[in-house]
Amino acid sequence: MSVRVVARIRPLLGKELDKDIIVRAESSQEDGHMNIVRIPNPKNESEEFSFMFNSVYDMKTTQEELFTSEVAPTLKSLFQGLDVTIFAYGVTGTGKTHTMRGGLKMSDRGVIPRLLSGIYRRGRKVTKDSGGETSVTVTLSYYEIYNDKVFDLFEPPEKRSLAGLPIREKDGKTIVVGLSEHACDDLKDFERLYIEANNNRSTAGTKLNAQSSRSHAILMVKITQTNGDQSLTSTASAIDLAGSEDNRRTDNGKERMVESASINKSLFVLSQCIDAIGRGDKRIPYRESKMTRILSLGQNNGITIMILNLAPQRSYHLDTLSSLNVSSRAKRI
Ligand code: ADP
Ligand code: MG
Repeated sequence: MSVRVVARIRPLLGKELDKDIIVRAESSQEDGHMNIVRIPNPKNESEEFSFMFNSVYDMKTTQEELFTSEVAPTLKSLFQGLDVTIFAYGVTGTGKTHTMRGGLKMSDRGVIPRLLSGIYRRGRKVTKDSGGETSVTVTLSYYEIYNDKVFDLFEPPEKRSLAGLPIREKDGKTIVVGLSEHACDDLKDFERLYIEANNNRSTAGTKLNAQSSRSHAILMVKITQTNGDQSLTSTASAIDLAGSEDNRRTDNGKERMVESASINKSLFVLSQCIDAIGRGDKRIPYRESKMTRILSLGQNNGITIMILNLAPQRSYHLDTLSSLNVSSRAKRI
């Protein structure tokens, strides 16, 4: 089991009025590898806090650079049967969806479309190298967790039960009962399915009175390599988490309080799991939230990458500091 915790600082956006940059990426190493985030102490600005990560990506980092450094190296392990799980964590507006999904332009594509593209490329190579003996199949499931309920994003919103899908233990694994799985043979299939499901997400959000920033979106890509009667299955999961901002606020009305309680809890359990994996603990508290349970986080010999998305400017100061404080893996030094 291995975990990497990295930070990505987004650039200023054209329309933003607050251009006062307070978050900086730095290096503590002789080779210049960026691994530190610095931010002023809001109570005494002559003082600075520093947090250490495995890597820090600054405002200039492109989608391609992030993918090449963090995700591309996991493809080999994925095809050796290891599960790979990638989270985007952070306050709403810091670039989680940009990082995971990205834009439509080729150069703007995020981690997810690039991951699929890498999977198909490697799959073709595996088949070719085996002289056509090994076949590779890819299926997708895509769901969101809102208020601790699981909704299949391939179900049109009008067909969705408000109670959500049940989860159950089966052969020592936690499964979502009734979650659909879609064969996805190439990048074209993927793009069609992914757009369809994301459209369901936004319309369902309106219906449920939920904004996408209040739910976790989990894409699971199952890869099965078959050669004769032998087969090897592994899963890549990519998660765009609910916004981590000020979830303790109590002046929000009942609905928001219910949302906040479940977001707080699942983000808290997630950071506990990341910490435990990072320390090499035997006991990972993955059973304590629905999301970590379904992902069986840290239960197999997998790779987990947590990308902490940060906005650089002052208007995010307190939220930025609290998301930096969330994981003790990102050590304050
Ligand atoms: P979140 O999903 O965390 O709420 P978004 O991904 O929607 O945040 O990002 C907020 C805005 O910032 C979007 O308009 C997005 O296109 C832009 N953005 C985020 N990260 C970057 C980046 N690295 N480069 C350029 N624009 C970005
Ligand atoms: Mg988003």
